Amino acid sequence: MDLKGRVALVTGGGRGIGEAIARRLAAEGLKVAILGRDREALSRVAFALNARAFTVDLADRAALEAAVIEVQGALGPIDVLVNNAGIADSASLERTDDATWDRAFAVNVTAPFALCRALLPTMAKRGWGRVVNVASNAGLRGYAYTSAYCASKHAVVGLTRALAVEVARTGVTVNAVCPGFVDTDMSTRAAENIARTTKRDADAARAALEALSPQRRLMTADEVAHAVWSLIPHEARGIHGQCIALDGGQTA
Ligand code: NAP
Repeated sequence: MDLKGRVALVTGGGRGIGEAIARRLAAEGLKVAILGRDREALSRVAFALNARAFTVDLADRAALEAAVIEVQGALGPIDVLVNNAGIADSASLERTDDATWDRAFAVNVTAPFALCRALLPTMAKRGWGRVVNVASNAGLRGYAYTSAYCASKHAVVGLTRALAVEVARTGVTVNAVCPGFVDTDMSTRAAENIARTTKRDADAARAALEALSPQRRLMTADEVAHAVWSLIPHEARGIHGQCIALDGGQTA
């Protein structure tokens, strides 16, 4: 099955893992829409990839619903949905306020849910579609000081599995990738946080993140993009409802 010209929507496509996924999908010949808040970053990536950029805060449900209509109006029905955008605030349980908890769930879980609900029925009617959720290995195991993030990523894993069972006979597959620490702004912020709270220097803090993986390194965004792409071709249709760890063996 030729995937050239199929339409993909990647949330958070303006930087980090989402940018790498958008780049990979565009290189494979898909028409790509990227969505995020940072108009300048999105425009830069869209220009480089000949993609379309849409500015929206995923936590704003009404704006998100309007953006879905706008994307489909511009590019046609969406065949591939990559729920990549996410936020990862870290704090002890006592310091995790309601706003932090609600925002983690709004961006990390409710937006993917809303996008799946808006787009999956049309994919199913058309008999083909792919949903890939970028969860985290924090969706497969616990980490201290990340209760909102960890709980939200476990919810994404649950959403992935439930939807996969629900749509199994439609030609649509639903999977998640669950990276360990990846070399992006998000892990840089995590290292800065560790350095600040443990009074270590930046190199020691980064080494602490690297040491979490048996491979003693951070993943690259391109490795995550490769894993996402591997779930898209027709030949991958048997991979369904899986939440695939990409963490150098950390969860092995
Ligand atoms: P990043 O560099 O911080 O990028 C986060 C992306 O999410 C940005 O493109 C950002 O776009 C978008 N985003 C955040 N809040 C948004 C909102 N309210 N509305 C729209 N877009 C929003 O992070 P990353 O490392 O690329 O992470 C991408 C995904 O991988 C996340 O789901 C993260 O949880 C997951 N992950 C990351 C790691 C890691 O170590 N980096 C490990 C495991 C899983 P704008 O700035 O344009 O809004």
